[in-house]
Amino acid sequence: MPATVQGIYDEVLRRNRGETEFHQAVREVLQSLAVVLDRHSEYAEMKTVQRICEPERQIIFRVPWQDDRGEVHINRGFRVEFNSALGPYKGGLRFHPSVDLGIVKFLGFEQVFKNALTGMPIGGGKGGSDFDPKGRSDAEVMRFCQSFMTELYRHLGEYTDVPAGDIGVGAREIGFLFGQYKRITNRYESGVITGKGLGWGGALVRTEATGYGAAFFAAAMMEAAGESFDGKRVTVSGSGNVAVYGVEKVHQLGGTVVACSDSSGYVVDEKGIDLDVLKQVKEVERARIAEYAERVPSAHFVEGGSVWDVPCEVAIPSATQNELDGDAAIVLARNGCRYVVEGANMPATPEAVQTFRDAGVAFAPGKAANAGGVATSALEMQQNASRDRWTFEHSEARLEEIMRDIHTRCHETADEYGSPGDLVLGANVAGFLEVAEAVHAHGLI
Ligand code: NAP
Repeated sequence: MPATVQGIYDEVLRRNRGETEFHQAVREVLQSLAVVLDRHSEYAEMKTVQRICEPERQIIFRVPWQDDRGEVHINRGFRVEFNSALGPYKGGLRFHPSVDLGIVKFLGFEQVFKNALTGMPIGGGKGGSDFDPKGRSDAEVMRFCQSFMTELYRHLGEYTDVPAGDIGVGAREIGFLFGQYKRITNRYESGVITGKGLGWGGALVRTEATGYGAAFFAAAMMEAAGESFDGKRVTVSGSGNVAVYGVEKVHQLGGTVVACSDSSGYVVDEKGIDLDVLKQVKEVERARIAEYAERVPSAHFVEGGSVWDVPCEVAIPSATQNELDGDAAIVLARNGCRYVVEGANMPATPEAVQTFRDAGVAFAPGKAANAGGVATSALEMQQNASRDRWTFEHSEARLEEIMRDIHTRCHETADEYGSPGDLVLGANVAGFLEVAEAVHAHGLI
C-alpha cells in the first residue's frame, strides 16, 4: 500500500478490530486513492479520507420476538449511517445469520461510493440483523420485522435514512417493515423505504434493477471492447433476486446462462437456464436450487461444488461477499473467462481480483456494476415524492442510461488517473471525488 494511505489504513485497523470485511473494503478503496491525494492536497489537509472511513452514526439494538411455538428469540439489529454528504442515508437491510457489525460496515462503506456513482442525491448506509428468515413461517417473519422496526423507526425518514432490501429481505419483509413504520408513526411516508409492492408505492423495474443493471454494465464493457453478449456462455452464482434478473437480462441481450447456484450447490443446464422454472422454484416455492435439476431434463445438480468450475466467457458472481477466491479465479481464467462482473457486493477476494488483472480478464467491481438497484430505488423515491408512476419501458431506459453513464465515468476516470481499463480504480476515484467535494463544502462536521 502507498505510504500516503498506509497510516490511514493502520488507524482504521486499530479502531475497528476484528472487522475483516470492513478492513478489506477500506483497503481496496485506499489503494486507489493515493493518486488522488497526490493531486488534491486539500483532502489530505482536511482529513477527508479519514472522515469518510468513519461512519457518521452506528446503531445496534436488541430485537426480541416469539416463534410459532411460543419460544422467545433474541436477535441483534444494526443500522450504520455511513455518510450523508450527498443525500439521506440509503442502503439495504440484510437478514442473514452471518450479519455482524463488520459486515454491515463493509456494505455501508461500499454503498457510499456506489451511490455517488449513480449521480443521484443519496448518501450511504446499510443495516440488517443476524436473523435467518430461511424456514420461518410468514407469521414469524412478520413478528420479527415488527420488532425490528419498533426500534429502527426512530432513526428513519424520507429525508433522513431510507432502507431497502438485500439478502434475506425481499418484497414480503419490506411490506411488514413498512406496515409497522406506518403504524407507529401514523404517517403514510412512501419515501421512507424502497422495494415496496407495486400496489402501494413501489416502482416498476425495482425488482429487476440490480440484475438487469449488472447485465447492462457488462454489455457496456463488451461494447467498449468491440464485442457483445451475442452467443456468449455465462455463469451466475446465487439464485436470489440479483441472480434471477441477471439471467433474464443476459438472455434478452443474446447470451446464454448455463449455470447458477445457491449455498447447497450449483446446477448446469447446457440448453440455458429456463427462467420460468427458476422463478417458480426460487421465487414462488422458496425451494433449493437442486429442485431445478429435478424438473429440467437437460440439467444436473452438483452438490457443494463451485459454480466457477463451469467453463464460461462471462462470470457474474451474484451471491455474497468473498464467494470467488484466488483458486476459483485461476480456474475461470484458465477456462477462457474474459469478463467478470460483480452482481453481489465484494464477491471476489483481493487474490481473485489480482488474478484477473494478471490474466487480462476485464473486471467490474460491485460498487459500479450492481448500482442499478440503488439507482432505481432513487427513482422510486422520485416517483413517491411527485406522486407519479412511470412505465416499465421508461424506468428500464433510465436504468440502462444510468448504468452506461457509470461505466463511462469509471472508464474515463481510470484513464485520467493513469490506469486505463482499471474499473476498480475508476469506480473508487470517481465515487470518492463526488463525495469528497460535498464533504469539503459542508465544513468540518
Ligand atoms: P437474495 O435474494 O437473498 O439471494 C442471495 C443468493 O445468494 C441466494 O441464492 C443464496 O443461497 C445465495 N448465497 C448466499 N450465501 C451464499 C454462499 N455462501 N454460497 C453460495 N450462495 C450463497 O439476495 P440478493 O438480493 O440477490 O443479493 C445478492 C448479493 O447482491 C448480495 O451481495 C447483495 O448485497 C448484493 N446486492 C443486492 C441488491 C438488491 O437490490 N437486491 C443490490 C445491490 C447489491 P441460499 O438461499 O442457499 O442462501
